Order: sequence, then structure tokens, then C-alpha cells
Amino acid sequence: MNIILFGPPGAGKGTQSKYLEKKLNNFQVSTGDMLRDEIKKETEIGKKIITYMNEGKFVDDKIVNKLMENVIFNPKKKGRLIFDGYPRTLDQAKNLDKLLYKSDQKIDFVFFLNVDKDTIIKRIEKRKMIEKRSDDDLNTILKRYDTYMETTKPVLSYYSNKSNFNEIDGGLKIIEITNKINSILKV
Ligand code: AMP
Repeated sequence: MNIILFGPPGAGKGTQSKYLEKKLNNFQVSTGDMLRDEIKKETEIGKKIITYMNEGKFVDDKIVNKLMENVIFNPKKKGRLIFDGYPRTLDQAKNLDKLLYKSDQKIDFVFFLNVDKDTIIKRIEKRKMIEKRSDDDLNTILKRYDTYMETTKPVLSYYSNKSNFNEIDGGLKIIEITNKINSILKV
């Protein structure tokens, strides 16, 4: 089953997708992790995106869409994808649909983890102490939240009237969110 976890930075997408990855024997597809990896390996893509990432801006759709191709056309991962942080723009959502169609797949469930700004700020400040991510300082967090709000609204509308769309209160405890997801997935 293919799942999209959707929501602002700090909503818990990473935590829930890691959990689902184990539970369903699926594969987490985190564009954030993939992009950080490009930076770490100092690839051409990495050099291009480092400033965007550190400033909390979205990386170009073309770059992110290209990264998705290898994942979606990987036969080992077919029908076992958990999208964490992708799609984030309407262009990406349409690209995803196109790639899924071409590879004879579909999205089975979309989970929107909805969280308010104050909760996100608190969570990300805590995460910064643990993970030491360079884009987790307060100004960048605020920028990332605003970018998210501006650009992902159309993505939300794109999915929200479909029957596989589920909104979950992302302010709940981790285990409560997990339980809600499990009951919708019937696992
Ligand atoms: P994340 O780990 O999902 O919070 O992503 C960290 C950063 O990576 C974001 O602030 C963006 O700069 C970049 N990024 C991750 N996923 C995407 C995406 N789907 N589209 C554009 N930029 C992305």
C-alpha cells in the first residue's frame, strides 16, 4: 500500500513514517533525507541546493521530481511507498500522479497531520538539540512554516476532496496519532 504523510515541518511525518515502514514492511521516501544525503556526499545536486535548504526554502521542483523517479520505478519498492515530505507543491503532486500512473500504482491513503505554529516551534527546538540539523534554528523554522503554508495549500486542496484523504490532529501524542493511523489503515 502507498501512503502520503502530509503536514508542516515538525508535524511528526518522519516519526510516523518510520513506524509505518517497520509495521508494513514498506519504504520511507523522505525527500528531506534524500536531499541532505546529496549535500553530505557533495554531489552536483548537493552543491546547488545547500543554500535553499539552509534558508528553509523549497528546493526546485525539477530536482525533487527527478529524485522521485528512481524510487517509484524501483520494482522492490512498488506498492510499498511511504511519502514523507513529498509532494510539497502542486507541480510535485501532479508529477507524482504521472509517475504512479506510468508505473501502474496509486496512492491508497493520504494522512494530513495538522499542527499549529506554536506546537511546531516547540517541537523543532527540541529536535534541534537532538538531531543538530542546520535548518532547525528559530528563524529558519518560521520561514519553513510560512513557506509550507503558502505553497502547500493548493496541494492540500488537491488531495482533501478525495476519498482516501484523512485529517489527523498532529498535536496529539505520538502514540495517539499512530493509533489513529492504524485504525484507518485497519492494521
Ligand atoms: P524535511 O526533512 O522534510 O523537513 O525537509 C527539509 C528541507 O528539505 C525543506 O525545508 C526543503 O528545503 C527541502 N525539501 C524536502 N522535501 C522537499 C520537497 N518535496 N520539495 C522541495 N523541497 C524539499
